[in-house]
Amino acid sequence: MISTKSLLALVPFVAGAFAQSKQVISPELRRDQIYNPIMNYMPPTQSHWDQWGAGWTLEDCYNFARERGQNPADYEVFNVHYTDCSEPWIMCRHRSAKVDQIRMIDMIGRLPVRVRQHIKHFIVSYDIGPYAGLYWGGNIAIDDESLDMYVLMHEASHALDFSALRQYGSPFSETAIWKDNWAQDSRIPTGYAAGNWVENFAESGPIGLYDRYVPGGIGNIQPNWSQIFHQYATYQGYLGDTIQYGGTCPSRIPNSKVVSMYGRSAKVSTAAMGEMPDVSFKSANVTVLEEVVGSVSCDKSHFH
Ligand SMILES: [Zn+2]
Repeated sequence: MISTKSLLALVPFVAGAFAQSKQVISPELRRDQIYNPIMNYMPPTQSHWDQWGAGWTLEDCYNFARERGQNPADYEVFNVHYTDCSEPWIMCRHRSAKVDQIRMIDMIGRLPVRVRQHIKHFIVSYDIGPYAGLYWGGNIAIDDESLDMYVLMHEASHALDFSALRQYGSPFSETAIWKDNWAQDSRIPTGYAAGNWVENFAESGPIGLYDRYVPGGIGNIQPNWSQIFHQYATYQGYLGDTIQYGGTCPSRIPNSKVVSMYGRSAKVSTAAMGEMPDVSFKSANVTVLEEVVGSVSCDKSHFH
């Protein structure tokens, strides 16, 4: 359960009332049944990357660190240039995290580019409380002990819910389209999918993606798939080409501001600071998406 206290503290987006009237499908899948096989069908994207100069960070990473009582200067910041997008993704990693930069770059690069384009920044930290992952305003943060392709697909599905289907409403999972399809199923995919509409959508994501990418589909591991068919098929159908591989990034969420990692008031000699990074988009062929409002905290104990 997400406690009321943490909901108030960390979740400005309050999910609408959720009619929790369905049982979890049986057998309930473990997340490794999805993340192990799917890695073979989610190809990595070629990339190169460069470190930021000393002293600078993103405001979103700065705030993330401060909100957790961490020192923003303990985060390294780097640009990742994937070959399928002319604009880099900027990522932040706590230097004590058990996940290294290469793994972060590899995993985000396994998301199709039209999924990736809805992710603003990617942060990996350690000990982010009871949470496996957080989504807010386009950003994804994942706890270093929880990072696997299932949790990443779950968090990316929050990003898609808020950003990729804006023409229907944001989040899409709060629209009548999603709720009417949910109503046609007799079960929900996991226990965590019972929490609220956004978690219902996010838990349908890894199943919809497994079914799309792995030959044989979800029937390989879930004999009773027809009981949750409308949820994952609606996820697949409305996202359409967004979850297909190939192509380049048509649009991006603008980057967070650049700030000193030592804070506004700190007296730091200019010699200690590198050149201030320029995070504006340079490509005329990339449409700038409007910022996304919405935030979700995803409880570690529910991913098993
Ligand atoms: Zn979630």
